[in-house]
Amino acid sequence: MRDVLIIIFDCLRHDHALTVPALRDFMESSRWYPNTLSAGTATPQSTAGMLFGGDQLLVHDDGVWSLAPQAQSLAEVLPTEYSSGFFTGNFVLSIFSMLHRGFGHVWTPKLTGTFCPVQGAEVLSHAQAWWQETKPPRFCYLHFFEPHPPYTTGIPMAAPSEGVAGGYELLGMSEEEHAYLKTRAGAHAASTIPPLLEASLQMVGDETVVVVTSDHGQAFGEGNVCAHGPNPSKLVEDLDLTWQIPAVRRVPFAIRVPGEEASRVLWPMCTSWLGKYLAPYLSIASDEDERQTIIEQLKSLGYMA
Ligand SMILES: [Zn+2]
Repeated sequence: MRDVLIIIFDCLRHDHALTVPALRDFMESSRWYPNTLSAGTATPQSTAGMLFGGDQLLVHDDGVWSLAPQAQSLAEVLPTEYSSGFFTGNFVLSIFSMLHRGFGHVWTPKLTGTFCPVQGAEVLSHAQAWWQETKPPRFCYLHFFEPHPPYTTGIPMAAPSEGVAGGYELLGMSEEEHAYLKTRAGAHAASTIPPLLEASLQMVGDETVVVVTSDHGQAFGEGNVCAHGPNPSKLVEDLDLTWQIPAVRRVPFAIRVPGEEASRVLWPMCTSWLGKYLAPYLSIASDEDERQTIIEQLKSLGYMA
């Protein structure tokens, strides 16, 4: 049984991952899935997808979300030898506490207002303390809020005071403003991610299976929005809208397995398959039938020979 670390960078676009050298280095020295779709277009859905599987978070007509009755998270199906830790700087995951169900140790931000993310360095310090005092095998889910908007751009994005974290609004920006924001976002990713990634990798050493990915991307003008989604007040509509935008839907994804040579897997992948991909390293049973069904579907669509 091996230590496993999952690192999530919130709102990290597929293309920004390519322009941040430290991230690109990780992707290129791992098993890299460059054509990966997110399990959702906002933090709760995608986190549910990664930890519980793709269709386990239900949205009801009244806008209330719940987990399907049979839903089991990766933390709940781990062999008993495992210690599990869940750490996040995204306050949204404090609200949807059902999503860290099953973890033995949980650290999330205290809710101090409508917009209260916690800096990655602080989140990491809690993870480091837990990692040091915990015996292997460990299973650690580490979600950084960076590089989530708003950025300090001088351009009004969905303001924190409006209680809107992701910037879902149609703000009527010009193309120049979108381009400027995208550039700023790239620079923000380039400055915030490398120290967090480096320290996280240092924390676990060379013998740990490490996944680096994002919960969803972010549009900067694509689809005429500056957004991911959804806005809770028009949830179904926004989920549908933001899912149409590749900049929101595509995310970086790579698994570093000690002793395994670097490679690229070019056919489509979805982060909701995380459990299936990690099953062999976590010594949990994988649903081989379901995996086979996915392969058959991809073949029938012409994606695989
Ligand atoms: Zn998110």
